[in-house]
Amino acid sequence: MKNLKVVITAGPTIERIDPVRYITNDSSGKMGYALAEAAQKSGAEVILISGPVSLPTPEGVSRVNVSSADDMLAACENHMPCDIFISAAAVADFKVLSPSSIKIKKNHDDDGNMVLHLAKNPDIIKTISESRKCKYIVGFAAETNDVRNNAISKIIRKKINLILANDVSDQSIGFNNDENEIIGIDDQFNEYPFPRASKAKLASEVIELIDKLR
Ligand code: C5P
Repeated sequence: MKNLKVVITAGPTIERIDPVRYITNDSSGKMGYALAEAAQKSGAEVILISGPVSLPTPEGVSRVNVSSADDMLAACENHMPCDIFISAAAVADFKVLSPSSIKIKKNHDDDGNMVLHLAKNPDIIKTISESRKCKYIVGFAAETNDVRNNAISKIIRKKINLILANDVSDQSIGFNNDENEIIGIDDQFNEYPFPRASKAKLASEVIELIDKLR
């Protein structure tokens, strides 16, 4: 991948409720970081746009730290154009409509309940794809059922060139684990199965596939 610019998102996003509380998810960032390392080793210039994770930055990779989905989208847009965009982040689907600038007190209403109004976050991969500022777009699809059909509908809806789908109903792989098992599906709906392996091994195989298909 010599002379190619690759932008990769990784990790969760965090969506603030108030200065001390937030909504997030279980993403460890391991798959995105492994892909960043593999792309860098294959000669690419890699920009890793990362939500909060406790992982070291792979050598030779430029890392940009972000927290919310809005921040992540802005950072991605700042780093366009690129040759390959890989969206491995687990972007929160919703953000808090009006985060409080001060700590929210416990007994919020008379019933002791609290209602949080949530607003839809931007779809980062779809926004980047529609901007046409990146030549080849790779996304992930974590599914619990009907993996192939759900992945294909994501390819179409989000205008993705290659999707890496995994079955997250098996909790020993995928989210927050060192191993994964994925199926690549391209925009012609050809399938490329990657049997269970370490995320590092899968990442270098996936980078090879992207280099072949792009
Ligand atoms: O729709 P779903 O979240 O399953 O789609 C997964 C793919 O879309 C992943 O590549 C993820 O990084 C990306 N995504 C995104 N922005 C969102 C939600 C998902 O870029 N708001």
